[in-house]
Amino acid sequence: MIFEDLAGKKALVTGASGGLGLHFARLLARHQAHVVLAARNRDALDKAVDSIKAEGGRADAVVLDVTNGENVAEVFADAPGGFEIVVANAGISSIAAAIEQSEADFDAVVDTNLKGIFLVAQAAARRMRDQGDGGSIVNIASILGLRVAGQVGAYAASKAAVIQLTKTMALEWARYRIRVNALCPGYIETQINRDFFQTEAGKALINRIPSRRLGRVEELDGPLLLLASRAGSYMTGSVLVVDGGHLVSSL
Ligand code: NAD
Repeated sequence: MIFEDLAGKKALVTGASGGLGLHFARLLARHQAHVVLAARNRDALDKAVDSIKAEGGRADAVVLDVTNGENVAEVFADAPGGFEIVVANAGISSIAAAIEQSEADFDAVVDTNLKGIFLVAQAAARRMRDQGDGGSIVNIASILGLRVAGQVGAYAASKAAVIQLTKTMALEWARYRIRVNALCPGYIETQINRDFFQTEAGKALINRIPSRRLGRVEELDGPLLLLASRAGSYMTGSVLVVDGGHLVSSL
């Protein structure tokens, strides 16, 4: 198996109670990592952990709000041995024209998507530095961090900032053998957006993707495993785009 070094590694995935986060946690568990799923909702987390265990994976849950620095510090302090792999995936979106968006809505997006990644990656890196064995941090950004669309200003700005933060962290932490990379998915079909993509607006959006289709969650598997494992051992500060060509669509 190409990613055999993941076996026995301890991995934390934030925002893992559903969507891409749960998919990443299940994927790492299938490669025999011991996965800790973090999110705010205990019931959803317990269900997710049970589903991974039912497949024979090793998984635990921890309640975590990534916007709360004390809570983040506790999770890392309480983790025996720390984590060798951290997937900072928790994120929220919001649809609002910049001229209308409320301060509270803007703050919520930036707090979760940017500050949340800062707090989680910083706590992970402190632990990895102190243990001396390095590690891999994968920050989940978006193609909206690299190009814009209407109505998603706060989200796009937060993801652009995540990309810059990832590069700074990579620069500063390479000396501790900590790799930090950003994964930028394009539009991936999940429970949450499936209905939208049946609408006329959704179909028009798909038509602008050069591949003329949405991504499937499994199409993130190779890129995530590459960044998390020894296969990507010389990759740090990179921005990996997985979008069916959406970013190179014709002007
Ligand atoms: P989702 O809403 O299904 O999952 C987000 C997860 O984050 C949920 O488990 C939620 O509970 C958790 N979360 C939100 N706020 C949190 C907080 N404060 N603390 C802890 N957990 C919190 O969304 P998704 O589509 O699975 O998105 C996952 C990540 O991928 C996000 O960062 C998103 O921006 C990014 N992304 C998704 C797509 C896509 O097409 N689905 C595309 C590009 C990027």
